[in-house]
Order: sequence, then structure tokens, then C-alpha cells
Amino acid sequence: KPVFKIEDLHVSVEGKEILKGLNLQINGGEIHAVMGPNGTGKSTLASALMGHPHYEVTAGRVELDGEDILEMATDERARAGLFLAMQYPSEVPGVSNANFMRQALNARLGEGNELPVLKFHRTLQEKMKKLNIDPVFAERYLNEGFSGGEKKRNEILQMSMLEPRIAILDEIDSGLDIDALKIVANGVNEVKSDKIGFLVITHYQRLLNYIVPDYVHVMMQGRIVKSGDAKLAEELEAKGYDWLKAELGIEE
Ligand code: ADP
Ligand code: MG
Ligand code: MG
Repeated sequence: KPVFKIEDLHVSVEGKEILKGLNLQINGGEIHAVMGPNGTGKSTLASALMGHPHYEVTAGRVELDGEDILEMATDERARAGLFLAMQYPSEVPGVSNANFMRQALNARLGEGNELPVLKFHRTLQEKMKKLNIDPVFAERYLNEGFSGGEKKRNEILQMSMLEPRIAILDEIDSGLDIDALKIVANGVNEVKSDKIGFLVITHYQRLLNYIVPDYVHVMMQGRIVKSGDAKLAEELEAKGYDWLKAELGIEE
């Protein structure tokens, strides 16, 4: 059962402090939702956790199973079991989806533990079927010409192939219609187990009707300012963020 701890995390982008002392612990089997207004640093959190070079960690600690994540390069973090589904997945012309996933999976499994090619393709086909992804997608170039919904489903496919220990989903719901949203949520619910913890970042409560969080955290101005259960998300949906800003004395 993984244990992921973020302690007093401070992150700057181009010299400007965006995350200002963020604390969060995610254990295996738990789904944590992070909600918050636009521009509050949610994507910054996701990128910093994966080690994106634009995001400078100026203070704090991040541990996965007692190991210091911040000391690791991005590929080492992936190997340790961190996974990020991005808000804007990039297109990689010239690399097929299947090849990209095989390389990512082999990197995750480590030298000597690679999946045999046939077994890989069989697993990939099974998972694609479950996620309602047309088998031809395996041979298309990564994300090139994919619709928004297809890109998001593809991120979930990568997640289910890689079997991460901590999965971070950054606005996986943005731009999805309700059918695509349900497919993505089903994918998450299928992968869910004690062996994986989820950090689900979203601006809207709607996603949380389908991926039911154990904890909901509100992020404002680079910190978690309030935590609760799924009811907190419903309250935010009904009342917006302004009442909370007023309650907490936050001006933006
Ligand atoms: P959210 O995901 O909550 O909408 P972001 O993390 O994307 O918020 O952005 C938080 C702040 O950091 C914003 O003011 C944004 O302009 C700034 N920021 C984030 N990433 C970058 C970047 N790569 N370059 C410059 N500014 C950035
Ligand atoms: Mg945003
Ligand atoms: Mg964002």
C-alpha cells in the first residue's frame, strides 16, 4: 500500500512563488480531489510533482514510500510509480501510441522485467476494449489528430497499462461530454485498488459524481485552505468559491 506525503511544498515559476506551503498525504486506496479557482496553482502542483524543469521547488519534501521524490529525475519518478495524466496531453508525431506505451511500460517495469511483445499487445488490446477505444488507435501516432475525448481516454489507457502507485489526473474532465466523462471515470474506477492512490484535480464538481472522492481539498493561492469529504465539492458546486474566500478572508 503506497504512502505519498507532500510536506510544506513551495514552488516557483520564473521566479514567482506559486505554491506556498502545500501539505497533503495520500494513501493507497484513497481518492483525493483537489479543487480550486483557475490560476491557483493546481497544474503547477502536478507538474512540480513530476519534476517538470520549469517548476522550481524552493522548499518542502515529497516522499513516496519513504523515498525522497524531489531528488529523482522525471523518469525515475515514473519508475517509482508516479503517473501524471495531463490537462493538455501533447502530440508526438512519428511515434505510435503502442510503441510509446511499450517504452513507458518497460521503463516502469525496469531492465530484465520487460513484458514480452505479444503479451504487451494482448494486454493493450484488452484494456483498449474495456475503455471503448478503437483498436486502430494503437497504431496511430501519439495524440496526433485525436479529439479531446480520445486524448483523455488515451491518458487513462496509459494509466491502466502502467499500474502506477500514485496517479495524478489534472483536469481529465475538461472538454469532455458526459459520455466521454463516464468512460474516463469507469477507467479510473476499474484501476482503483489499495495499491494505488489518486490525486484528482478538477475545477468542476461534475467529475466527482462519477469518481467519488474520499477527501476533497480546496486550493487557493498556492495552499490547501479547506478539506472535507464529497459534500464539500457539492457545496462548492452550489455556492461557487466566493463564499469560501469571504469565510477565509482571502482576497483575489
Ligand atoms: P491552475 O491549474 O490552478 O489553473 P496553474 O498552476 O496553471 O493554475 O497556474 C498558476 C499560476 O502559475 C498562474 O498565475 C500561471 O500564470 C502561472 N504559471 C503556471 N505555469 C507557468 C509557466 N509554465 N510559465 C509561466 N507561468 C506559469
Ligand atoms: Mg487552469
Ligand atoms: Mg490547471
